[in-house]
Amino acid sequence: MELIDLHTHSTASDGSFNPEELVLLAKKTGLKAIALTDHDTVEGLDKFLETGKKINFETIPGVELSAYFEKGTLHILGYFLDYHNKTFLSRLKSFQEARAERNPKIIKKLQDLGIAITYEEVKLVSGGGQIGRPHIARVLVEKGIVKDFDTAFEQFLKKGAPAYVEKERIEPKECIEMIIAANGIPVLAHPFTLHLDNEALEAFIKKLKNWGLGGIEVYYTEHTPEQTAYYIQLAQKFELCITGGSDFHGKNKEGIILGKGYGNLEVPYYLLERLKEKWEKDYKGV
Ligand code: AMP
Ligand code: ZN
Ligand code: FE
Ligand code: FE
Repeated sequence: MELIDLHTHSTASDGSFNPEELVLLAKKTGLKAIALTDHDTVEGLDKFLETGKKINFETIPGVELSAYFEKGTLHILGYFLDYHNKTFLSRLKSFQEARAERNPKIIKKLQDLGIAITYEEVKLVSGGGQIGRPHIARVLVEKGIVKDFDTAFEQFLKKGAPAYVEKERIEPKECIEMIIAANGIPVLAHPFTLHLDNEALEAFIKKLKNWGLGGIEVYYTEHTPEQTAYYIQLAQKFELCITGGSDFHGKNKEGIILGKGYGNLEVPYYLLERLKEKWEKDYKGV
């Protein structure tokens, strides 16, 4: 079976491989296509697509945006978008500014907790792209302050933990509209992070669909087989595309293999063909 990965991060956000390396790795791994979906930035996409062209490997432009959601984490992926769209880029810029304000506050909180960490150290591991919490986690691990990434998030960085700092986010509806306005197809990322029960999730997806959602990320590294089966049902019920990806971050998210997640992930190529068909029909020219 021909396999793909529609959820990856590069050094433009918080992945450890640069866009070129990512494409080369995908080809070497034997995948048939990958998408680059950096958080709040499209800076890596030119190089990513250019490399794909050069080595004749299918590359799909994408992005991952964070929206406001009280209960859990809400991420919306956007695919095939016109990432040079001026309005889109200016909105992204304000997200990036929000991050630039937030990161030093997280470091300050850690310092106040007595931890020897500096912003410079975090910048150094970020490779020059946009800084996110995984970079901070990596410094905490490398300095031996915590034993692994998960502990860094559990003990300090996750929502509700002592060094957590809220980031300004946009409403889910706005997030979907922003992707559609740039002619992309919006997809709900890793639904399990919403922390909703089945009934609430179904009601929420119905709302997202009315706002223009085009797909659900059904196959995901951390989804259980039961969750995957349920999300397939939901996608069918609401006539949404099914997508999937590993959320590969290289060294910045331990244990995840490109295309394979923790080892068992399999995202078939035909899902990409369907996604592309839907995009061409409903999103491309609007
Ligand atoms: P940020 O963009 O700075 O809010 O950080 C978000 C990134 O942190 C995402 O790539 C997540 O995969 C990662 N992340 C969020 N929560 C956790 C967690 N509890 N454990 C490990 N990684 C996490
Ligand atoms: Zn990330
Ligand atoms: Fe995400
Ligand atoms: Fe991600």
